[in-house]
Amino acid sequence: MAKQRITLIGNGFASLFFLQYLLAPPVSLPGLGGLRRWLSRYDITLIGNGRFVYFPSIPEFITGKKRTRDITVDIRPWLRRRGVRFVEDRATGIADGGRTVITEKGRFENDALFIGAGPEFMLDDIPGTAEHTYSPCSGPEAMETFMQRLDVLEKGVIYVGFKLNKQDGFVAGRGGQMYECATLLDYALKRRGVRDRFEIHLFSPNIEPGETGMITDVLRERNIVLDYGYEPAAFEAGGMRDADGRFRQADLVLFTPGIRAPAWLRESGLPVSPGGHVSVDRYGRVVGLDKVYVAGDCANHEEPPPWVPHQAHMAQLRSQAAAKNLKQDLRGQAPSHTYRFELSCILNMENDALWLHVASDERPPFFNLFPRHSRKLVKVKDAFEKLYLNYLRYL
Ligand SMILES: Cc1cc2nc3c(=O)[nH]c(=O)nc-3n(C[C@H](O)[C@H](O)[C@H](O)COP(=O)(O)OP(=O)(O)OC[C@H]3O[C@@H](n4cnc5c(N)ncnc54)[C@H](O)[C@@H]3O)c2cc1C
Repeated sequence: MAKQRITLIGNGFASLFFLQYLLAPPVSLPGLGGLRRWLSRYDITLIGNGRFVYFPSIPEFITGKKRTRDITVDIRPWLRRRGVRFVEDRATGIADGGRTVITEKGRFENDALFIGAGPEFMLDDIPGTAEHTYSPCSGPEAMETFMQRLDVLEKGVIYVGFKLNKQDGFVAGRGGQMYECATLLDYALKRRGVRDRFEIHLFSPNIEPGETGMITDVLRERNIVLDYGYEPAAFEAGGMRDADGRFRQADLVLFTPGIRAPAWLRESGLPVSPGGHVSVDRYGRVVGLDKVYVAGDCANHEEPPPWVPHQAHMAQLRSQAAAKNLKQDLRGQAPSHTYRFELSCILNMENDALWLHVASDERPPFFNLFPRHSRKLVKVKDAFEKLYLNYLRYL
């Protein structure tokens, strides 16, 4: 019987989790790729750049604990060990209701498609974002550049901020990560003995002025100025322009805008939500298309709770359901697997940490094995990273 052809776009969290749940067993060894491919009922092709980035550790560049080489993995050997064909290319369009992927170098036909193309940051939302701000979300190289600028500053004003895209009824943006950056900045400047020469501001139009809570408390304890409710009209050289024309001086701005699906995907004829995500149903299927699944930061949710963010963790839950559903779909059965909604992340402040957690079914993280507020969580976060990256490097 001819093998069923599955094409994947992207080699980030969503695609790798999808493959992990699609292909049993989830671990493999060098030399087994050919055998696994021969035994598999699927003929799988992944289109991507071959480089996996572990984004959750980018804020730790601020303390010097992590660098680019520590958090990036050449993903081609991992794919080879699973018998997955890798094509180094960029998808530029989708045709024939999902049956053809158009790339810079050619066209790839499939019997089923999975899209894990990640986010696009809305750089055009606030003028000057691309030119005058840095972001941990732009990748490790951009964060290294920010660090070079920070390292030569002896005093100054640093603004750390975020804006969320909430048009689709959930949180498409990076709030927690920017809180983490602000507190790590405080830690790193104290360690250098220059904290008293710096002002650190935390701003976001998505937080109500006067907001209280655990995160606000830790920011206050660190003398971080809270500009809750603030949105600049524009970022400019040397600072930010307010809506009333006032100029705020800033030596550095670390800012991340809201998220939506990448432009090429939004323009590829797939259904798109009002907020700019690919529209999917509760099974991860693209609405109205046959055997086309999407997960991760480029995908919408059907009826999400308002607090759910885009996270690697959510990408995992969604990709798990999508992989199981695609298998059913390819067997001619109706997809039946849905996913839970969960916000779960460790906010690392280096000298302290918080486990932020909300779940649609109120299930606690890891059977409540870990405390919710403890410096020990810094080590736990580190261990998660090492486990996952070693899995990608060696198994
Ligand atoms: C600074 C930071 C800290 C974070 N911290 C956490 C955390 O603590 N916990 C957590 O759960 N989440 C965290 N996240 C969020 C998490 O990293 C994302 O939610 C996750 O990466 C989404 O997975 P994805 O596969 O959708 O996108 P990505 O991981 O970005 O992968 C997208 C993939 O698609 C590829 N691609 C893009 N366009 C194309 C194209 N045209 N053709 C082919 N390939 C393409 C990219 O190269 C990439 O391989 C953090 C993110 C950032 C930026």
